[in-house]
Amino acid sequence: MHGTRPTKAEALPAAPARPTAPLWLRRALVATLTSPAPAWAARRWGLGLGARRYVAGPALEDAMGVVRRLGATGMGASLNLLGEGSPGAAGARSAAQTYREALERLRGEGLDAGLSVKPSQFGARGGEAGPALRAVLEAAAAAGRFVWLDMEGSAHTSATVDLAIAARAAGLPAGVCLQAYLRRTPDDLRRVDAAGVPVRLVKGAYAETPAVAYAKRTEIDRAFAGLVEERLRAGRFTAVATHDERMLRHVLGLASSGARRDAFELQFLYGIRPQRQRELAAEGWPVRVYVPFGPDWYPYFVRRIAERPANLLLLVGDLAAWAVRPRRRAAPVPADLARERRRRPWYRPSATKR
Ligand SMILES: Cc1cc2nc3c(=O)[nH]c(=O)nc-3n(C[C@H](O)[C@H](O)[C@H](O)COP(=O)(O)OP(=O)(O)OC[C@H]3O[C@@H](n4cnc5c(N)ncnc54)[C@H](O)[C@@H]3O)c2cc1C
Repeated sequence: MHGTRPTKAEALPAAPARPTAPLWLRRALVATLTSPAPAWAARRWGLGLGARRYVAGPALEDAMGVVRRLGATGMGASLNLLGEGSPGAAGARSAAQTYREALERLRGEGLDAGLSVKPSQFGARGGEAGPALRAVLEAAAAAGRFVWLDMEGSAHTSATVDLAIAARAAGLPAGVCLQAYLRRTPDDLRRVDAAGVPVRLVKGAYAETPAVAYAKRTEIDRAFAGLVEERLRAGRFTAVATHDERMLRHVLGLASSGARRDAFELQFLYGIRPQRQRELAAEGWPVRVYVPFGPDWYPYFVRRIAERPANLLLLVGDLAAWAVRPRRRAAPVPADLARERRRRPWYRPSATKR
């Protein structure tokens, strides 16, 4: 039963007022929020100041708690250990170890969850997985779980597509994320489809030049909707990863008018439109949530804040609440101790004990 499903494929409805931030504002916000003072303050207090809206927490156990809660409402998950860029061999091994532990625990608890990983986190280069990422893919195969390869900036696109194709050819359970804003994406889709690699389609989150990517929101939306429609009509499995209500309704309209139900999955980021995620799952649509966790959460959090100006107001509200929070009063100093301190200001009874 799918409750409020539309009854026929809909044309893309008219765009609403701009709810997301233009690129120049995103860049300015990212630059401001990652400058030393706010970065230090947020790292010091951030997970108590709103970051938990978007990040499960610093530890794997936090992410497991979220996966269990999502599972209880019929949603699957993809775990992502935050961290990107070149971590060095030790960092790559440590990320691989955390992911292997996650896979063990997901299998042990029988949870409907896999992984979503950034190849750069493992130092993967030139389409080669490298030992750390290969170990994760093999552990996923042994645990019967799936691994999505996140797509990073366009400098990584060819290597990530090659990597996904090679992993699939080796019988490893990998799919790849492709970004509708890149002009090259239709060609990449033809390559990965020919190799049988499952695809997750997103609009795209990185700052790219007009030579490689569409810049206007209308162009990006049109490209995204067109690719989704083409794939669903052809019955090619697609994880449609968007929070855009117009896109969601377009997908559900297509699904209701004959596209195969097992040919798609709706994917969301943890903390964005959670009510809508629950509604869709309750209506019986396949929903999977990307659950980021780990100590290196700040850059991811800043990107989520910068995407939407309204988030800044939430952050300011949280900061204000934190500033006026009731503080624990210091216990009154006994009269004899106060007298002693006036006489000998250096006197601290506890210090003399240690
Ligand atoms: C599961 C998943 C995996 C992803 N993986 C990748 C990846 O590997 N590579 C990559 O480049 N990008 C990735 N993305 C991000 C994607 O490219 C977009 O940047 C992001 O999803 C925002 O685009 P949108 O389609 O939701 O539409 P938008 O038009 O940006 O937003 C639509 C609506 O979503 C809500 N919304 C969007 N962002 C926020 C926010 N931060 N806070 C609150 N509400 C918000 C608002 O209601 C907004 O109106 C992923 C997204 C998802 C959902």
